[in-house]
Amino acid sequence: MAIVVHKYGGSSVGNADRIRTVARRVVASKEAGNQVVVVVSAMGDTTDDLTNLAFEISPVPPARELDMLLSAGERISIALLSMAIIDFGHDAISFTGSQAGIVTDTSHGKARIVEVRARRIIESLEAGKIVIVAGFQGVSTDYEITTLGRGASDTTAVALAAALSADVCDIYTDVDGVFTADPRLVPGARKLHAVSYEEMLEMAATGARVLALRSVEYARNYGVVIHVRSSFNEGEGTFVVEEDERMEKALISGVTHDTSEAMIRIRRVPDRPGVAARIFGEIATENVNVDMIVQNVSEDGHTDLSFTIPKDDLSRAEKIIEKMAREVGAEGFSADSDIAKVSLVGAGMKSHPGVAAGMFQVLAEAGINIEMISTSSIRISVVVRAAEVESAVKVVHERFDIPNEAAKREEHSE
Ligand code: ADP
Ligand code: ASP
Ligand code: MG
Repeated sequence: MAIVVHKYGGSSVGNADRIRTVARRVVASKEAGNQVVVVVSAMGDTTDDLTNLAFEISPVPPARELDMLLSAGERISIALLSMAIIDFGHDAISFTGSQAGIVTDTSHGKARIVEVRARRIIESLEAGKIVIVAGFQGVSTDYEITTLGRGASDTTAVALAAALSADVCDIYTDVDGVFTADPRLVPGARKLHAVSYEEMLEMAATGARVLALRSVEYARNYGVVIHVRSSFNEGEGTFVVEEDERMEKALISGVTHDTSEAMIRIRRVPDRPGVAARIFGEIATENVNVDMIVQNVSEDGHTDLSFTIPKDDLSRAEKIIEKMAREVGAEGFSADSDIAKVSLVGAGMKSHPGVAAGMFQVLAEAGINIEMISTSSIRISVVVRAAEVESAVKVVHERFDIPNEAAKREEHSE
């Protein structure tokens, strides 16, 4: 009997009717002869609502208590889904992350899974039950309840698929798959038939929130095939798999955007060995992820240092940056939240020069100023003003004729 893992996101379980629809799909899979494990997110905007509530109570909610609160969202959906399945005459059991054996490190709010002890899940499957697991949470090596970061029910699902040796991890969501751009922003975006782990990592890291970044890392490390698909229809979605030659033939997989970062500029930093190491070392100890970094050419022994960090970490980071700027003898610093990052991703870029130039040119023609640039072998990212993000994504998407690029993958796959 095959083990299948399904994951349903917040909008897919947003109300009682939708939960019943999910229950029907799960039951159909069980009746087709599978052993079924289902991971669910909190209903609709529950996680946002709980977070806002916490900040109404306390300006700096203690991390342990925040995790205790947020993990409750997923607890509600597992119980309701289990009830719906039992109501349809099947045997089901719900587990919190802790009960499901998801063991994490101790970093509240962005804990990493260190081990999956799947014994209880396996016993329940063998007893003929459908197993429902709360996404986004686990228990730490210190026996505390932890959460795994926003969107991380995807990570729970992939980790379980790996631990149970499932053939594929089905991620059911509110769009038909991974598109060449966010379909809510670019109506002409096209669904991709397949993307490589590397492309999906770059897309997830640069704002395509359809899959959480860590879930893709986990899938790549453990060789789990992810199938992103709609919970509202039966159609085939997008497969995230090892790269093959089809993907290199198609130049671009997509354009992504991210408005969740802020730009920091430290002015007139003394240009000496060790200064950057000190500044970024201190920021890293606070667990703040630095993304793009640009250092200007030095003038009279000083240089400006600019970088981006998540807006959510801004108030915490500002305190450290202020201290570090003073300690290293910089003139001062500024923070700018009004920025957006636009990225172009594709495995074919490795063998096609000129993609960056084409991107810069089309942005220039649209009168959009580029404030920072960073690249990898399969990605080009630029920082622009937040107000220009929509037009930047659209012009880049059009310039590279990305829907046709996507079609190449399908032609070659047949
Ligand atoms: P879920 O609640 O199912 O986890 P999310 O809201 O986390 O769903 O992710 C799905 C959303 O991701 C879509 O509604 C879509 O707006 C957004 N999205 C951003 N970029 C892309 C992309 N390239 N392809 C598909 N969806 C995308
Ligand atoms: N409920 C969590 C969130 O909103 C986890 C998830 O949906 O994947 O981030
Ligand atoms: Mg999600």
